[in-house]
Amino acid sequence: KVRVRFAPSPTGPLHMGGVRTALFNYLFARKHNGDFLLRIEDTDQTRYVPGAENYIAESLKWCGIQIDEGATVGGEYGPYRQSERKPMYREYADQLIASGNAYYAFDTPEELDAIRNQHEEEKKTFTYNTETRGGLNNSLALSDDEVKAKIDAGEAYVVRFKMPVGEELHLDDEIRGHVVFNTSALDDKVLFKSDGMPTYHLANVVDDYLMKISHVIRGEEWLPSMPLHVLLYRSFGWTVDMPKFAHLPLILKPVGKGKLSKRDGDKLGFPVFPLEWTDPKTNEIASGYREGGYFPEAFINMLAFLGWNPGTEQEIFSMEELSQAFSLERVGKSGSKFDPEKTKWFNRQYLVNKSDEEIGGLFAEQVLKVKGIEADQETVNRVCGMVKDRVDFVSELWEHVNYFFEAPTEFDAKTVKKGWKEDTPALVAELKGILEGIEDFSSANSEEIVKEWITAKEIGFGKVMNPFRLAMVGAAKGPHMFDIIEILGKKETIARLDYAME
Ligand code: GLU
Repeated sequence: KVRVRFAPSPTGPLHMGGVRTALFNYLFARKHNGDFLLRIEDTDQTRYVPGAENYIAESLKWCGIQIDEGATVGGEYGPYRQSERKPMYREYADQLIASGNAYYAFDTPEELDAIRNQHEEEKKTFTYNTETRGGLNNSLALSDDEVKAKIDAGEAYVVRFKMPVGEELHLDDEIRGHVVFNTSALDDKVLFKSDGMPTYHLANVVDDYLMKISHVIRGEEWLPSMPLHVLLYRSFGWTVDMPKFAHLPLILKPVGKGKLSKRDGDKLGFPVFPLEWTDPKTNEIASGYREGGYFPEAFINMLAFLGWNPGTEQEIFSMEELSQAFSLERVGKSGSKFDPEKTKWFNRQYLVNKSDEEIGGLFAEQVLKVKGIEADQETVNRVCGMVKDRVDFVSELWEHVNYFFEAPTEFDAKTVKKGWKEDTPALVAELKGILEGIEDFSSANSEEIVKEWITAKEIGFGKVMNPFRLAMVGAAKGPHMFDIIEILGKKETIARLDYAME
C-alpha cells in the first residue's frame, strides 16, 4: 500500500517549497489510494519555534491538503511527533552499536572545534570519517576498558554511524534515476545525541520503517542523505521494506540564480509563505498568499507546475484533477523557476471562473464591510460580475466598482477638459428631463429612449454620453452606461446629474 509522509521540522513557518513537497506527497497518495501522513520532526530542540506546528497544520488545511494520519489527527502508528517518540529511538542506536554499524564518540564540542581549526590552518576540511576517526576520542580508537570506564563515569557521548570504506553505492531515485555515491566521501554522521535525542537521520529512518512508509518524496536538499539512509536500512536488516526515494527538483528564484529562499519573499515583492507569519522573536511579519488575496486553488495549481507538468496544454487543474493526473515520472530533474506573475495569472483564471455570487460575497466581506458600506447583495454580485475579468484579486475590484457604492465627488480632470464643454450643462439638463420621464428604467429601454433623442437632435453621441459617464462614474471608465444607470436607479442617476451640473 502506498503510504507517504510529509515530515517538516517545526523550525519556522512552512514556505512554498515545503508546501510543494506536501502537495506532491498528497497527490501521489490520492492517485494510488494511499495514505498521507504528517510527521513532526522536532528532535532538534534548539531550533524549535513555538507556533510553527500550528502554522504547518493551518497551511495544509488552507491548501486543501487533507491529512489521513499524523500529528494533528492521530492514527495507529502514532505518536507522530518525534519528541513524543523519544524513548523508542535509543534501542535502535544500541542495535547498531551491537552490530558494529555505529560507535560511541566522546569528543567534546571544544575538542572537535580545536581539530577543525587545526585542519583549517593546514587548509584542509575536517571530516569525521574513516580517515580521521582512528585518532579521535571514540570507541573505535579506544580500548574496550577505556570505553567502559568513560561510560561508567557518565561521560557525555554521541553515537555515530560507522560509514563503510570505499564502497560504491548504486541507488535508484524515482525522479533522478540511477545515482552513484562513494561511501569514502561521506562522514560518520551523528545518529544519537548526548541529550538523549536521536538526530534527524536516525529518527527519520526508524520512523519511516515503523510507519510503513512506501515512498519518501522530499526536496533535493536531502539527496546527499540518501546513501546514509539506505545504509541505515541495510544495517538494520530492513532492506526488503525500504521505501522508494524521490527527490524533488529545486524551486529557483524568479530572477538571477539559485534556490528560492525564505528571505526572498517580501524583499522581491511576493509572498513565499502560504499564510502570514509573525516571527515570535522579532514580531516581524512576513506576508502570506492567503492574506494577499490568493485563492488556495490558484496557489496549489501554481505549485503543482513547479517541477511537474501534465504533458498536455492544460494548465488549470483542480485538486481532484491533479490527483488523477499526477505521476512522479512527469516530475522533472532540473530546477524550476518560480514566477510570481504566473501566480497572479492563475489567480485571475480562478477569479473569472468563480460565480458572481461567490465573488460578490467575498467582495462584500473583504472590502465593503471593511469600508462600512452596506449594499444590496444582488447588486454587489452583479457589479462584481461585470468587471471581474479586469482584475487579479478581489480587493482590486473596488477601483472598478467604487462608483456604484459612492457617488463621485471628484472628476477626472483630463476627461472634464475633453468632454465637458460650454454647451454641456444645457444638454445634461435636457438629458435629465428625458430620464425623469422614463418609467421602465431597464438598461435596454433607457438606452433606446436616450439614443432616439440624441439621434433626433442630430448631435454626436459622445457629446452626451461622455459627460453622462463622467457624472455617473467620475471618469471615462466602466462598463456599458445604461447597465450602470439601471443598477444605480433613477433617483441616484438624477442626483448625480444634478451634482455634476453644479
Ligand atoms: N524533517 C525534514 C525536513 O524538515 C524531513 C526530510 C525528509 O522528508 O526526509 O525537511
